[in-house]
Amino acid sequence: MKKIWIIGGGPAGMMAAISASEAGAEVTLVEKNEKLGKKLYITGKGRCNVTNAAPMEDFFGEVVSNPKFLFSAFRAFTNEDMKRVLEEEGCPLKEERGARYFPVSDRSSDVTAALQRRMKRDGVRIRLNTEVKELLTEEDPEGKKRVTGLRLSDGSTPAADAVILATGGCSYPSTGSTGDGYAFAKKLDLQVTEPVPSLVPLECKGDECRKMQGLALKNVGFRLELDGKTRYDGFGEMLFTHFGISGPLVLTASCYYNKPGKAVGIIDLKPALTPEELDKRLLRDLAEQPKKQWKNVCGGLLPSGMIPVFCARLSFSEERRACDITGAMREEAVSLLKAFPLEITGKRPFAEAIITQGGLGVKGFSPSTMECKQVAGLYAAGEVLDLDAHTGGFNLQIAWSTGFLAGKSAAAE
Ligand SMILES: Cc1cc2nc3c(=O)[nH]c(=O)nc-3n(C[C@H](O)[C@H](O)[C@H](O)COP(=O)(O)OP(=O)(O)OC[C@H]3O[C@@H](n4cnc5c(N)ncnc54)[C@H](O)[C@@H]3O)c2cc1C
Repeated sequence: MKKIWIIGGGPAGMMAAISASEAGAEVTLVEKNEKLGKKLYITGKGRCNVTNAAPMEDFFGEVVSNPKFLFSAFRAFTNEDMKRVLEEEGCPLKEERGARYFPVSDRSSDVTAALQRRMKRDGVRIRLNTEVKELLTEEDPEGKKRVTGLRLSDGSTPAADAVILATGGCSYPSTGSTGDGYAFAKKLDLQVTEPVPSLVPLECKGDECRKMQGLALKNVGFRLELDGKTRYDGFGEMLFTHFGISGPLVLTASCYYNKPGKAVGIIDLKPALTPEELDKRLLRDLAEQPKKQWKNVCGGLLPSGMIPVFCARLSFSEERRACDITGAMREEAVSLLKAFPLEITGKRPFAEAIITQGGLGVKGFSPSTMECKQVAGLYAAGEVLDLDAHTGGFNLQIAWSTGFLAGKSAAAE
């Protein structure tokens, strides 16, 4: 019987353990925390957006880095496969807005409990409070490396026919994802793409955002420009914070903020109206209330929390009477409503990032087995690989699919 050791008891590691043991291997899952799925527990604000109900073909468009690498994995284990596994273990799913699947119970802990039941039945050995310190390898006469075992925190060095690296990335390090897999890989001379925080809030210059902190904008457009080039253009909801901007739209935009250079976030506060329509609307509002001050008139177009900052950006006084607003002033206001720029100075740190972009270079792994090309018997799955996607359950599906394929292949070969 093949002895497989899996490093990391997150979604990828647990799924790899299930598929490897169901393919006939003797499986040990090692987790340094006192429990499995610590990050899984906090996903989807504690409700766990397990996957997405969209057809699998649509998943590729939601993957930001290396979507093509996922072709076999997404085919080997789909969103509906995951739904079935959880249902079989007494954790049915429901579909919500954006085709997001959540457990009916709204509890992420039920997802981990269901996977634990399955692993128990499959005879997976689980070693908690145990950290893997090193991968042990040997070289054959031709110089090709092969994994032979691991060194654990208790000093033991168990032998392994195959090892699956499912150590995650380095976002939310308090959950145990501290980038250990990258260090193992570097020691074996594998290529690692610089890990950076992604799906993360953005910091902005100045104190305008702080002045508007807590204010949420719904149904706005948001465009991210890097050195004058549009890298992302979306529509939805965002939020001002004490350091800059956050919310779903900004988190998604952050996936495309991956180069140094001048970064500007441009908010379209009225995406449903063209500049001409907006000007007509403004003209009407001004004509209806000629004695009112500008700041009160523009209040009809903006949330109140934004008015002082918006007015301060214009060249004319916020106290100017509506009847004294000229065509040029209207034009200035319309341009700002359609394109309210914020200079972005950086990303928030890993501690606040939902996902890590970068990681083990996928060119070094076979997409049809998840095995490392340079080190025989070494497999990788989940966020430790240079794979990341938008929110909506896609990142977890990457972990489920790659974990399943790595486990199955490791047991078979
Ligand atoms: C706040 C938050 C909310 C999220 N919500 C969602 C969501 O709703 N839907 C979604 O699709 N995605 C979500 N994600 C992303 C998702 O959680 C990750 O994509 C997913 O957890 C990656 O799974 P993984 O198994 O690859 O890694 P991880 O979940 O990071 O698991 C890796 C495990 O390996 C262990 N480990 C690391 N090094 C060692 C070592 N040396 N020895 C032993 N064990 C080790 C760690 O302790 C950890 O338990 C969210 C992420 C965050 C931070």
